[in-house]
Amino acid sequence: MTLLDQPTSTGRGGPELPQERRLVTEIPGPRSREWLTRRAAAVSAAVGETVPVFVQAAGGGVVVDVDGNSLIDLGSGIAVVGVGNAAPRVVAAVQEQVERFTHTCFTVAPYDSYVEVCEALNRLTPGDFEKRSALFNSGAEAVENAVKIARAATHKQAVVVFDHAYHGRTNLTMALTAKNQPYKNGFGPFAPEVYRVPLSYPFRDGLSGAEAAERAIHLIEKQVGVQNLAAVLIEPIQGEGGFVVPADGFLPGIADWAQSNGVVFIADEVQTGFARTGTMFASEQFGIVPDLVVTAKGIAGGLPLSAVTGRAELMDAAQKGGLGGTYGGNPLACVAALAAIETFEQDRLADRAQRLGEMIQQRLRALRADDPRVGDVRGRGAMQAIELVVPGTTEPDAALTSRVAQRMHQQGVIVLTCGTDSNVIRLLPPLTIPEELLAEALDLLVETVRAA
Ligand SMILES: *Cc1c(COP(=O)(O)O)cnc(C)c1O
Repeated sequence: MTLLDQPTSTGRGGPELPQERRLVTEIPGPRSREWLTRRAAAVSAAVGETVPVFVQAAGGGVVVDVDGNSLIDLGSGIAVVGVGNAAPRVVAAVQEQVERFTHTCFTVAPYDSYVEVCEALNRLTPGDFEKRSALFNSGAEAVENAVKIARAATHKQAVVVFDHAYHGRTNLTMALTAKNQPYKNGFGPFAPEVYRVPLSYPFRDGLSGAEAAERAIHLIEKQVGVQNLAAVLIEPIQGEGGFVVPADGFLPGIADWAQSNGVVFIADEVQTGFARTGTMFASEQFGIVPDLVVTAKGIAGGLPLSAVTGRAELMDAAQKGGLGGTYGGNPLACVAALAAIETFEQDRLADRAQRLGEMIQQRLRALRADDPRVGDVRGRGAMQAIELVVPGTTEPDAALTSRVAQRMHQQGVIVLTCGTDSNVIRLLPPLTIPEELLAEALDLLVETVRAA
């Protein structure tokens, strides 16, 4: 009998799981190692992995592996399970739906939950104008559709994106994404009519928001031309690109310019959306009202769903049948989204994100004050990061970053890295994480950076 044939705990996931960090083996333990061997023989080597454990259950603020280790989750499956893993409302909604029907294709025979998700998105996204939504499966798919919508509505083709941007891995979104390794290398040719301009990156460029906006707009006007430009696409706070928070005034500067020049302003809120940054959408905190908002990750408690929401006249511009897909707005994902949205609102998770953010900032700022390798502490709400550099410079220290992340994993804390230079450690806890657990993880992070 191999280890894999032995029964593991029958425990369910969700917030009832013991909320503790518990290591009963080294990481990875023997059962995870057996699965890693099978994985290597069965799964494409190009599919990456961050933490070398296999998951058995998750909930609240922990992930339990097949060896019985309980890890503190500061990743939320990349900002997805903001409502917590196996969140009770989501589980109940999906269980009820899965017994009624699993799929009809909304464009073949529609159902209520798709419409209700669109109504909720139209209500929750910034702007009090008339809106429409359309549902898809992944963030990348929704970004592509936002570009299609902007092109159909403006009869123009060019799209402007920013340095360090991440918008996905499909062909168009690879073109929109900045970082070559690992996202683009060897995968070209890429889609045309995509133009990249500099972002506001206060730690590196020293510019005010207005100055950075002017620099970007000058390049757009001189090198692209508004008469060709369908859309400007931007993450209000960059995700994979390094959790870069633009200087005040940058986003309104770009949005105002776009909107007064007939250019569709698209906010990619795939990572920042759904209470993550302390408000339902990050756009609210920067005083911008996008024409189109793209959402995914946090939307449905872990079920695959994404959306484009925006001005009715833009959303209705494309020909009937021009938007859609077999699975877009699948009924299981839609009821999960309704349950997740109810949870965000009823449990006031945006306020919780704010409180978690204050805890994180307090500890990480103290760390920065006495460790010059921590060049910057930045973020909003429960989306926070440290940028690690050679002391006294802005030169990235990717090796240190990777050491810290690995050491955290060995100690039973899931953290993710990001940044074009792979020198940023990002924290994205589930918004349901108990504060004691977050505090323990932050203490470990501080100790680990100091010791690394
Ligand atoms: C993750 C992400 C995407 C892509 O979403 P997928 O669901 O992985 O396709 C797009 N934009 C941003 C900002 C993201 O963080």
